[in-house]
Amino acid sequence: MQTRMTEMLGIKHPIIQGGMQWGGLAELASAVSNAGGLGILTALTQPTPDDLLKEIERCRGMTDKPFAVNLTILPTIKPVPYEEYAQAIVDSGIKIVETAGRNPEPYLPLFKDAGIIVIHKCTSIRHSLKAQKIGCDVVSVDGFECAGHPGEDDVTNMILLPLAARRLKIPYVASGGLGDGMGLAAALAMGAEGINMGTRFMVTKEAPIHDKVKQAMVDASELDTSLIYRTLRNTARVFKNSVAERVLEIESRDGPTSFEDIQPLVQGVKGRELFEGGDLDKGIWSAGMVLGLIDDIPTCEELITSIVEEAEEIISQRLNQLVSA
Ligand code: NAD
Repeated sequence: MQTRMTEMLGIKHPIIQGGMQWGGLAELASAVSNAGGLGILTALTQPTPDDLLKEIERCRGMTDKPFAVNLTILPTIKPVPYEEYAQAIVDSGIKIVETAGRNPEPYLPLFKDAGIIVIHKCTSIRHSLKAQKIGCDVVSVDGFECAGHPGEDDVTNMILLPLAARRLKIPYVASGGLGDGMGLAAALAMGAEGINMGTRFMVTKEAPIHDKVKQAMVDASELDTSLIYRTLRNTARVFKNSVAERVLEIESRDGPTSFEDIQPLVQGVKGRELFEGGDLDKGIWSAGMVLGLIDDIPTCEELITSIVEEAEEIISQRLNQLVSA
């Protein structure tokens, strides 16, 4: 299945593993790339830009296929030296970057001068048009179904993708709610050049995440996510556990929410410990509505192959028969 995106990125299948805090390590990124998708390391999962350089080298030791680095620009508890992370990405010789969160414009001259392809994740059509205008190469259109930060507009991919088809000239991929071949076929039908999956890749054999977390995600349904930080205009979709419920309870109190009241519950370091130790109520972790479509823990190779085969079958059999009947 060749698309504008597979050609641009030099990958076999139109499937990207999106950046994931604590999940985007070399084990997962290399497994996705070896299976013919695009694996992505998450820059901020590394404590320093130097550690990111080491992780990129470690990943190079595990795959000779293209892989990318995600740089997410959102509120954080400790200030992040974004310029230094961006410079480390350039110095490493990485050729594909996924940016997410705020406008990546300040880093684009650095990336473009280094010949880097920039994929920017956008949760609205106006941000997608802006990304196109400032010189991003690909937009990852992130519908409200997604894990992590869906923005504040709450528009799903059934609307965002056809809007992107009407208005964008640069290629785009569908992100949020994708986890099977039906999703890939539907995304291609709505003009996307491929799909981006995060939550689905968390539930694979190679994901560096405790088995108890993966099993909880298999057991969960599409109803098992919570939207936290709504009151702070930094909405995040996370797995519905007791910590998420406590955050929502604090946010529902009268008067404005102070981030300080919820910070001890949500700090990223607890999410990392949760992934390592499997204590499901240690902190919060991002998860999308696609939980409802996840019922196994395959290898990345098995997952990617089955998604592509299912999509090809839908397109060549069911859809083809509909128009040739
Ligand atoms: P962290 O420990 O610095 O913060 C924990 C959480 O609190 C994050 O979700 C962060 O957005 C939020 N937060 C921090 N300061 C805030 C403030 N002043 N007001 C409102 N919310 C605030 O973050 P981390 O877990 O180490 O993650 C690092 C970065 O990666 C964060 O910016 C986080 O948002 C981002 N992230 C993005 C996604 C995504 O969907 N793109 C998923 C996970 C994490």
